Formats: sequence, C-alpha cells, structure tokens
Amino acid sequence: MTSLSGGCQCGAVRFRAGGLKRPSICHCRMCQKAFAAPFGALVVAEKVEWTRGAPKHFRSSEKVRRGFCGECGTPLTYEYLEAEYIDLAICAFDDPAAIPPETQLAEEQRIPWCEGLETLSVRTPEQKAKYAPIMAANRSFQHPDHDTTDWKPRS
Ligand SMILES: [Zn+2]
Repeated sequence: MTSLSGGCQCGAVRFRAGGLKRPSICHCRMCQKAFAAPFGALVVAEKVEWTRGAPKHFRSSEKVRRGFCGECGTPLTYEYLEAEYIDLAICAFDDPAAIPPETQLAEEQRIPWCEGLETLSVRTPEQKAKYAPIMAANRSFQHPDHDTTDWKPRS
C-alpha cells in the first residue's frame, strides 16, 4: 500500500503512514473515551513518519499509550507498547474514506444507539439552504486535508 498523509485538526502535527492493515472500529469504553466518540476507528501502520510536530501521549493503561495533538487535542494514535507498529486514527487521515474498516472490536460494549444511525432524519433541502450562508460566513481554521508548506496553526 502506498503511504497516506494525515494530521490533527489544527495542523501542528502531520504524518505520512505506510504498511496500513487491519482497519477496524473499536467499541471499547476506553476508545469511546479517548475519541470522545461512539467508537474509535484505527488502522495498523507499520511505518509512520511525523512530518510536522509530534504527538503528546497519555498512558491509558499499563501497556498502552495514546497519542494526541498537544495544541488542539485531536486523537491520533493507539500504541501497544510491546508491538512493532502503532495504530493511527483513521479519521485523522486526509482521506478517511480510503481506509474502510473491515472488522469491529469489543462489540459487547457497543453503545446501543450506534445501531440504525443511518436511519436518523437529515436536514431538508430548505433547511440546508437556510444554513448554507451561515456556514459559508464562518471561516474555517482547520488544516486543509492535504500536505502544505505555508500553514500556520491557530492557537
Ligand atoms: Zn493540532
């Protein structure tokens, strides 16, 4: 697999990763908490190069630490300390759609409302039209989803 780029929301930490395998979503309570999300989406990366900055870490258990951007807090890694590889957060990649999960872990801890999310109501075209100018008027400070040399993270 070719290497793919990614990074945190503010752009202080950027990476390129190769040897990607075993993309998964994990429903365990620690991933829920670390991602502050219904589940964590992670992919094993045999080769990771930090091309800008580096993650800070929280030791979430005896054998695991989790990396995140120290500036903006974006979760970035799951690192089993005895492994030769680390896991990267799929949604931190510039193109998360390129890494579809292939399996679920800790399904016994899945939050019940995860089932059927795709059936929830969505905004009508009229509601979208109403909010579009409001959204357009709010300039984003999120790093663009590609490598760039002229980016200054906001603090
Ligand atoms: Zn950041």
